[in-house]
Amino acid sequence: MANGRFAPSPTGDLHLGNLRTALVAWLFARSSGGTFTVRMEDLDPVTSTKEKASQQLRDLADLGLDWDGSVVFQSERFGLYDEAIATLQKRGLTYPCFCSRREIAEALSAPHGLPGDARYPGTCRELSPGEQRARHREGRRSALRLRADASPVALEDRIVGHFVATPDDIVLRRNDGMPAYNLAVVVDDELQGVDEVVRGDDLLASTPSQIALGSMLGFRRLSYAHIPLTLGPTGQRLAKRDGAVTLADLRQLGFSASEVLSRIGDSLGLCDPGEVVTTAALVVRFDPVQIPREPWLVPNGLLQA
Ligand code: GLU
Repeated sequence: MANGRFAPSPTGDLHLGNLRTALVAWLFARSSGGTFTVRMEDLDPVTSTKEKASQQLRDLADLGLDWDGSVVFQSERFGLYDEAIATLQKRGLTYPCFCSRREIAEALSAPHGLPGDARYPGTCRELSPGEQRARHREGRRSALRLRADASPVALEDRIVGHFVATPDDIVLRRNDGMPAYNLAVVVDDELQGVDEVVRGDDLLASTPSQIALGSMLGFRRLSYAHIPLTLGPTGQRLAKRDGAVTLADLRQLGFSASEVLSRIGDSLGLCDPGEVVTTAALVVRFDPVQIPREPWLVPNGLLQA
């Protein structure tokens, strides 16, 4: 039995990729007899709204997904994130970072920076207290980073298989004072009793850092399943301009929620195209081994009727 969750950011309508990830997360949890919760990752008050969150919940329910207990909103849990940060600070496991995005990008493009390496280059890791004070005096705002241990972290992902990477010095608190995504997700998965994290594989690279942070906080080790992304017909990132990408768009083209469920079920090898199915029927057929290991290229016929 593994308790699962779906954790969207309520910044817009869920697109086909989000809906597919939600369905797979639900199938993992329900097929194991575990609970399934929804958590709204609405830390950013500029981009997240309660209206978007309500619309996302309606879409999940229309697709046939249910969840246990009340929906958790990260914007109501700042005290918990502050506590975790205080614990790490007390143990000397954090440091202030004054770098702007541009400075980090520049340091990474320096000759010794590996191409495509998005890890923090460590610029502020060893600043002395005097150097930190000087930067504060210049009026520079600081984020707070984790002083991560450089030993590689390995995981056995249920879809991707063996994956190993060195944890990064992730941001715990942004320089505008907001708790950062990587911190909140780790704290919430622990406190909500989540056992298995099912999400898009665009987040795989952050997972070793999240595991390292969880173990520094004394949290349980979780199981992971990273789902290949959903892309447009030619393998491009799914975007509004490609056609109908949300349930609302698809409805306008004449697809019912149940037809969309059937198309997503087909993409997972769980039903035939056009077969009328319910989530209850899919959960009986679900076998994680069958989940395709490649991205789902949504056929044009679904995006443009
Ligand atoms: N909120 C993240 C997103 O919408 C997902 C975080 C997670 O599942 O860990 O991409």
